[in-house]
Amino acid sequence: METLKSYLSGEFCTGKGAATALVNPTTEVQVAETSTAGLDLRAAMNFGRTQGGPALRELSFAQRGALLKQMSKALHEVRDALIDVSIMNGGTTRNDAKFDIDGGIGTLAYYAELGAKLGDARYVIEGEHEQLTRSARFTGVHVRVPRQGIAVHINAFNFPTWGLAEKAAVAILAGVPVITKPSPITALLAARVVERIVESKILPAGALQFLCGDANDLLEHLGPQDVLAFTGSGKTGELMRGLRAVVGNAVRLNVEADSLNAAVLLPDVEAGTDLYATFIRDVVREVTQKTGQKCTAIRRVLVPRALADRVQSDLAEKFAEIKIGDPALEEVRMGPVVSANQLKSVRDGVAELEASGARIVSGSVARPTTLGAPEGKGYFVGPVLLRADDAARATAVHHREVFGPVTTLLPYDDAQSIAATVGLGQGSLATSVYGDSREILGDVLLGVAPWSGRVVSVSSKVADQAISPGMVLPSCVHGGPGRAGGGEELGGERALHFYSQRVAIQGDRPLMEKLLGSAQPKNG
Ligand code: NAP
Repeated sequence: METLKSYLSGEFCTGKGAATALVNPTTEVQVAETSTAGLDLRAAMNFGRTQGGPALRELSFAQRGALLKQMSKALHEVRDALIDVSIMNGGTTRNDAKFDIDGGIGTLAYYAELGAKLGDARYVIEGEHEQLTRSARFTGVHVRVPRQGIAVHINAFNFPTWGLAEKAAVAILAGVPVITKPSPITALLAARVVERIVESKILPAGALQFLCGDANDLLEHLGPQDVLAFTGSGKTGELMRGLRAVVGNAVRLNVEADSLNAAVLLPDVEAGTDLYATFIRDVVREVTQKTGQKCTAIRRVLVPRALADRVQSDLAEKFAEIKIGDPALEEVRMGPVVSANQLKSVRDGVAELEASGARIVSGSVARPTTLGAPEGKGYFVGPVLLRADDAARATAVHHREVFGPVTTLLPYDDAQSIAATVGLGQGSLATSVYGDSREILGDVLLGVAPWSGRVVSVSSKVADQAISPGMVLPSCVHGGPGRAGGGEELGGERALHFYSQRVAIQGDRPLMEKLLGSAQPKNG
């Protein structure tokens, strides 16, 4: 049995205590184990701060970007092997695996290019020098310098590559070293990613460390220059906010958590049009991709009441066509969920939605017919479509994120109610709106905006070009208010802010320009 290794203080190492088992969720056979017990995490944090930090800060943005480019290339070279690991330990189909792995490789490449654009600077001068007194000589200017601590990254099980890479890309470009922790459930893929980066000898010592399993005392060592970026459930996010070290040292914290994303069909869209077909396609994809284990999956589908039966039967028909089974098979569209716990959580979640006034109108939580999976084995569940005719009363639909291939149809009578219904989710990562009607589209987009991290407007003219709403792009902010964690990641250069300290430097303008001016990025 392979024991996965952490990479701390410049060495691969394993814990000494009880190990956590990693399984293949299709066969339930154990594929590896991992333990972090007894590892010296205080020393690792210091190693990052004292070795990785100074080495990165000495480099320009362009040089840090060049490191990211090499990381992207190194991972691309082993892409096929990574896909195989994802299928085995994540239960993903090949396409689902690519979504995670190519997403990680692409995000590294995007931030590599941003580094090249920011050029020789090592920090960013923001805006103009502003006159502060009657003297034109005494001015203030805002400068963003890298924080001198370490970035601790805690990731969810569903994106072992992308989660690791998108966070690391931004921190490294900002000049901050990283210690990254995957969820143990799918840590095999994250371990392979880190092994590849380490063996490629790309990064300075201490720039990227890897804690493969339980966090133990890691978060107790967070200090005032450190940052903590967390992705996972709202419950764990809440725990992060209350950590003694976080509160006591005002550690900067970013939380990416649950989300009850909505897709909205506006009343002007007619069944049978291309726009309607795009809407159905997007909902089906966003419910079944990665077996619904996506933070950006569509959980609530708002449709005009007059069209609800038609949408219901079209979605039911498409869901019934999805082939479920061994994700290694080419014809299989949906693999299992990642663990027995996850399967139980999906079943419990659907029961909670039903108890709250939603009824199942297609599919079920019973074991579906599977292709190629061993008899009675694997954590399989098929797509489940629920319907709640009174959207406001079905409270669990707006509170309980069922992290599987599950969504609820919510018919509405009046377009004026759309924003309020979306808002019942108390904050989402992505809201998508399908329609052309100018009279209502603007109001709906601006109405859902305060409750969303990203709003995708799909109108007839872009129906064939628009990206699916669950796709997270490095150039656009990812995050959402309230339930979604209240955080922000990515979004191009905006993402660097989290890792830097903005300081207002006041003084003699010509002197300040002389001292700081050379740091101005070329495009700054
Ligand atoms: P989770 O159970 O909250 O775990 C997330 C991470 O936190 C894991 O690495 C977990 O590792 C760690 N963790 C849990 N308790 C901890 C503690 N006390 N100290 C330090 N680390 C701790 O979430 P999950 O089940 O992996 O992921 C599913 C959830 O993530 C869903 O709710 C989904 O919506 C959300 N998600 C959000 C986004 C987004 O961008 N907003 C993206 C992906 C997923 P251990 O298991 O080792 O404790």
